[in-house]
Amino acid sequence: MLKVTKFGGSSMADAGQYRKIRDILQADPGRKVVVVSAAGKRNKNDNKLTDLLYLCHAHSQYGVDCTPVFDMITSRYIEIRDELNLDVNLEQEFALLKKRVDGKSVTQDELVSRGEYFSAKLMAAYLDFQFVDAADWIRFNLDGSVDKENSYELLQGLVKGKGVVIPGFYGIMPDGHIRTFSRGGSDITGALAAAALDADVYENWTDVSGILMADPRIVENPQAIAEVTYDELRELSYAGAQVLHEGTILPVREKGIPLNIRNTNDPEHPGTIIREKFDTEVDPHRVITGITGKKDYSIITVFKRGLTSEVGILRRILGVLEKHHISVDFVPNGIDNVSLVMPTAVVAPKLYTLLADMQQHIEPDNIEVMDQVAIVAAVGHRMAYRPGVSGQIFKALGEADINIRMINQGPDELNIIFGVDNRDFASAIRVLYNSFAK
Ligand code: ASP
Repeated sequence: MLKVTKFGGSSMADAGQYRKIRDILQADPGRKVVVVSAAGKRNKNDNKLTDLLYLCHAHSQYGVDCTPVFDMITSRYIEIRDELNLDVNLEQEFALLKKRVDGKSVTQDELVSRGEYFSAKLMAAYLDFQFVDAADWIRFNLDGSVDKENSYELLQGLVKGKGVVIPGFYGIMPDGHIRTFSRGGSDITGALAAAALDADVYENWTDVSGILMADPRIVENPQAIAEVTYDELRELSYAGAQVLHEGTILPVREKGIPLNIRNTNDPEHPGTIIREKFDTEVDPHRVITGITGKKDYSIITVFKRGLTSEVGILRRILGVLEKHHISVDFVPNGIDNVSLVMPTAVVAPKLYTLLADMQQHIEPDNIEVMDQVAIVAAVGHRMAYRPGVSGQIFKALGEADINIRMINQGPDELNIIFGVDNRDFASAIRVLYNSFAK
């Protein structure tokens, strides 16, 4: 059994967290591959090392002395090393790096990648595992995508019998330069390592006990989702949930490796399991897997008598949006009207020219624009072909006096999405949570 484990920034924030990680690894001998983030925040007012590294680079680019920021960075790592009594000569590496920063000979990506690099050096020493640099196996193509075949082969050659620690977040370009993934990219490194080594499971350790059924800033103490399919996860993240990004999980999804989200601060909690399909389910009676949503949408409704019978009209309406490079999220329609639902931030800067073009090309009877709309999504594969779910949703919202501005159900019946006023957003989510989380 091989488990690839990835520990995020808050799990790497101080020496106490390193001890928790060692206990987690010792509890299961399958946990032999460890991918780490840079040190994260120790408390609400603290800084993430990665942010400090970006700041340090910006200082040096604008000719401002970055020594105070650089010292904040180095002292975080020295503190961890000394508290754990590790024999790692950080001072020498820090001095060399500082020289290169001052001489402007280090790129932003390389400097920022050092957050994970030093985390991995310390963790490898602490666990007495082998340090395997991401620069020795993650190969980017010129277009910025990962050359998976080559990278997988390289990692397979580097991992011997002993446990390994790998820094997340970066790899190298064909010319040998370090390149980072986008923010949060250590998750991708973990997924690539799991796929390369054909792991039995990819454990992603963070500071919550899995994916929550609803946003904890809206619902007090929401339950964690025990099991979620990759398709449901995509729906949840599209509709606003702060969960792992699709690109992150692609390498493990491609190989059919289950992903388990766990909490470093509550290691007994089983967290959330994500996989393609569940043959037997922990909770087969749960209809809705998660509830999420986003505020600040606009709905443009085009009214034109005979719209549904006019050949090509939808294409022409969508063509106007295409001309303005606007992608539309939902297109609910009536007999003589069609609505276009998009984030306000996308449509607002182009609204007046867009409306003028609609007038010219569509010749509508009327156009209405409605702002301050929130979309709410109830997601769950067990809703499919099950009568009564939408009835239950809309009954609950009606009883709470929440007016619905738009309804949309995906053809695969994996979600029911509806629009409400921004001001009803939080109560709509709470109402649904209370009627479905049992
Ligand atoms: N340290 C990087 C960031 O803060 C990458 C990561 O933690 O995943 O974005």
